[in-house]
Amino acid sequence: MAETVFAKIVRGEIPCHPVYEDELVLAFLDINPLSRGHVLVIPKATAETLDQVDDDTAAALGRALPRVARAVMKATGATAYNVLQNNGASAHQAVFHVHFHIIPKYDDGTGLGISWRIGALGEDPKGLAAAIADAL
Ligand code: AMP
Repeated sequence: MAETVFAKIVRGEIPCHPVYEDELVLAFLDINPLSRGHVLVIPKATAETLDQVDDDTAAALGRALPRVARAVMKATGATAYNVLQNNGASAHQAVFHVHFHIIPKYDDGTGLGISWRIGALGEDPKGLAAAIADAL
């Protein structure tokens, strides 16, 4: 697995603006924010994508995300935000260390812009759901 800038941040080799830290999780300001208060929440353990995260780290991320989101809202006054989590280059992942974006959305339009092209469930949603459930 290639070394990432976030692994270096976790080890303190590259500076960041931290907002939250516990044994398993670190959160800091995004260096190129989409809006004021754009924060990244990352596991300290190295994993490229969400599906590679172990259960303890997943639980820690799940605990931290709402707390950090509440703090971002309180500190910025934002009343809306998106949580974005990209996995894979074609899904716009640029840094290959799992991270969650918390991106405040403001009345001036700053924040995450989304082009959401809706589709249809297709021919066999029951079979698809069963296949996913079987894979768990
Ligand atoms: P993604 O496209 O989901 O992989 O997003 C990667 C994010 O990491 C981008 O929003 C970058 O601005 C952010 N980023 C890259 N390097 C740094 C850094 N050194 N400190 C903080 N954020 C960073």
